[in-house]
Parts: sequence; structure tokens; C-alpha cells
Amino acid sequence: MRKTLYLKFILAYILFAFFGFVTVATFVSRLTYEYCLRQTSGNMYREASRIADTYAVDLYNSEISLDTVQKQMEALSYFMDTEIWIINPSGRMVVNSANAPDPEQEIIVEGFDPTVTKESYYTRGTFFNSFEEEKVSVIAPIINNYKTRGYVIIHTAASGIDEEANSMLNISYLMLIVILFLSLIILIFFTEVVYRPLRKIIAATEQYASGNMHYELNVEGEDEMGYLAASLRYMAQTVANSDDDQKKFIANVSHDFRSPLTSIRGFLEAMLDGTIPPEMHEHYLGVVLNETERLTKLTNSLLTLNNLNTKGMLLHMTDWNINDVIRKVSASFEQVCRSKNIRIRLILSGDVLYVHADMDKIQQVLYNLVDNAIKFSGSGSVIEIETTEKGGKVFVSVKDNGIGIPKEDQNQIWERFYKTDLSRGKDKKGTGLGLSIVREIIRAHGENISLVSTQGVGSKFTFTLKRSELNDELDDDDL
Ligand code: ADP
Repeated sequence: MRKTLYLKFILAYILFAFFGFVTVATFVSRLTYEYCLRQTSGNMYREASRIADTYAVDLYNSEISLDTVQKQMEALSYFMDTEIWIINPSGRMVVNSANAPDPEQEIIVEGFDPTVTKESYYTRGTFFNSFEEEKVSVIAPIINNYKTRGYVIIHTAASGIDEEANSMLNISYLMLIVILFLSLIILIFFTEVVYRPLRKIIAATEQYASGNMHYELNVEGEDEMGYLAASLRYMAQTVANSDDDQKKFIANVSHDFRSPLTSIRGFLEAMLDGTIPPEMHEHYLGVVLNETERLTKLTNSLLTLNNLNTKGMLLHMTDWNINDVIRKVSASFEQVCRSKNIRIRLILSGDVLYVHADMDKIQQVLYNLVDNAIKFSGSGSVIEIETTEKGGKVFVSVKDNGIGIPKEDQNQIWERFYKTDLSRGKDKKGTGLGLSIVREIIRAHGENISLVSTQGVGSKFTFTLKRSELNDELDDDDL
């Protein structure tokens, strides 16, 4: 059987109850008995000493008659529920509260020895065979003129003390039962509050481990269990989403690879079987080359994205002049711009503007943004790249007067493979990966990128970078 937490608790509870009873039955029972014996015999001894110092001394001094003392002792013993004796050192009975001694007939306690109590002030037994049942007896000497004249002895039934001890012990048992009952309540409480939710959580983790991420875990509450369950639910949801994302991603990749491959294959087959005449081959080989370029671009973008995600993006942070890099990037588009009759206008803050970032990656961001701006702009339009500084940040924006991005698409364009319907006609080579790469890079820098766009008017992408402290040193030099 599996050793569950619950079983362990039940076992601990049973052990607790068992040892509780054993302790009460042995240790506590002995302590209680000893306590009762000490209490009773202490009281009896005090009474015996008092009698020895008063009545008994008076009796030996003949200041009071034997009969009076006998009567007094009878009354006292009735009141105390004891038996009181006064005996001579030789053991001869002088007064006996239970049975007045006959002056004619001498009663001797055979073998009487006053040291029988040893260190304590009581003795338990039949008191030199004077009784049939067990008694607890105390002995107090009667001292007159520095001589021991006799002894006052008080007996009480040992069974009386046993009964008293037992009734006290019953209280201990009752307390133990109350404690066990209360701890049972704690056990039940524990079951409801900890054990049951824990079982549910374990069942859920087993389901999650076997891949059923949509299993419903219904443990609610504001306590640690509720928090744990909520975290697990969140984790399962995230894994389920990422599973879905992965499936979507693979479907997109396959689709994007399949269409160029199908068209390449179609053209090549048509050339081979003569459907496309040889004089047209050059034209169609150009189309095929175009398609392979698209495949290369797609593969490169996927590799870049994969590297960005898996390596947790290792950034090579340096201080460099963003204005310079913008100039270089826009220069690399010169040819395309000329062919599309598009002008790039640079509105740069100062001559040099240092930023603290990974130069290669930001260059890629700029490249992707400018590439999009050109792709989605019509002939004769102007693209503006602007840098500004504000509060320790450098703002870089790429603005075009192109087709714009519809409101409903503005959140999705950052997702992998997403393309707006508007753009499909304009850009057949697009992969829909460019902006996800851009967002990953900017996020890895701990910076932001935003978009303002109006359909049919144009778009403006703005991202922030950390301003380098080198700028301040340069300013100081200028002064
Ligand atoms: P790609 O450009 O390769 O298709 P991106 O991730 O760079 O992929 O862009 C995703 C989509 O966002 C584009 O397909 C296009 O629909 C839209 N988009 C991006 N930039 C612009 C822009 N400057 N103007 C209009 N639409 C844009």
C-alpha cells in the first residue's frame, strides 16, 4: 500500500492515543496514588501529633480521665472516618476509638515497634496483624518530661486512599479523552483543508504529466493550497497555449515552404515536358530563382528567431552612434528606393548620438522596419527616419505614407507569420516574421516598440534605446 500522508497522520494519532493511555495508566496513576497517600497521611500525622500534645499528655499527667479521652477519640474518629489508638511503649492498648478497652482485660499489640514507619510518617499493612484489611497508619509519640510515654496511632482504610486516587485518575483519563477528541477535530480539519486539496492537486499533476493540459483543477481558496492550485492551473494553461502555438507555428512554416516548392516544381516539370517552350525557359528560371530566394529568406528568418528564443538572446552591448548606423542602413536601400522612386529623409538629433545597445541586432531592427516601409509605400512617397532624445532614452522612428495597418491588425502584426490582408497583394515575398524578430530584439534590450498607423495614410514605428553616457562626455569636451 502507498504510504500516504494521511496514513502517517492516522498512525501518529493512534500512537499518540496509545502512549497517552499507557502514560496515564502507569506513570500518572502512580503519581496520583502517591500524592493521595502523602496528603492523607500528612493530615493524619498532624492530627495524631495534636492529640499527642493535648489529650494524651493530659491523660498521662492524670489531668483528664481515661473515659473522657476515650469519648473524645470516639467522636474525633467518627468525624475523621479513622480509628484512633493510644498505646503504651510496650504495646498495651490504652484508648481505642473503635472498641473501648476493658480495664480488666489487657490488650497488647504484639511486636509493636514505633520505628515501623522508617523515614516516612506512615506505614501500610495490617499493623502488626491487628486488622484483617489493609490500613494506612501514622504514629505520633506522646512526650512528657522528655520521656516517651506512649503513642497516638491513627489508622485509615487503605482502600479509601485507593478509591480517592482512582477517582483522581479518572479525571486524568477524562482529560486525555477530551484531548484526543480535540486532536481528532484537528485531524478532520487537516483532512479538509490540506489533505483533500492536496489529493486533487496530485490527481491534476498526474493528468498534466500525461499530457492532458485541459484537465480542470477545482481547488479554490486564499490559502497556500489555493495559491498552489492557481499556479498549477496557470502553468497548465501556458503549456496548453504554447502547445497550440507550436502546432500553429509548424502549420505556418509548412504552408510557407510548400507554396514556393509547389510552384518551383510546377515550372520545372512544365519545362521538362515541353509545356513551357525553350525560348521561355529563361523567364521561368528567373521566377524559380525568385522562389528559391524567398525560401532562403524564410529559412534565415526562422534561424534568427530560433536563435533569439533559445539562446535567451546574448546581447553584445556597446556604445555606438545610432545616427551613423541609420545613415548606413538607408544607404543600403538606395537602389530599391531609386527603382520605386521613394525618398528616405533623415531627421537626426545632432551629428552624433550614442546609444548603449547591441549594434548588429539594432541594425537588423532598422533594416526590417525600413524594408517594410519601402515595401508598403507607393511610388513617389517619402520615408522619414527620426532620432530624438528624452529622459535618458533615444527614440528612433520609421515613418511611411504607405498603405497603413488596419486597427484590428495592429496587435497581431507582431505575431509570427502574421500578414495583413491589405499587404498580401503588395508583398508576395513577405514571410510575416520580420516584426516578430524586431519585437524580440527590442524586448531583450528591455526597451519598447510602438506603432501608430492609419489605414491608407501611413505607419510610424517608434522604438526606444538606452542613451549612452558617452554623449555627456562629448558635450563636456565641446565646452
Ligand atoms: P513581412 O513584412 O515579411 O510580411 P513582417 O513581420 O515584417 O513580415 O510584417 C508583418 C505584416 O505587418 C506585414 O505583412 C504587413 O501586413 C504589416 N506591415 C508591417 N509593416 C508595415 C508598414 N510599414 N505598412 C503597412 N503594413 C505593414
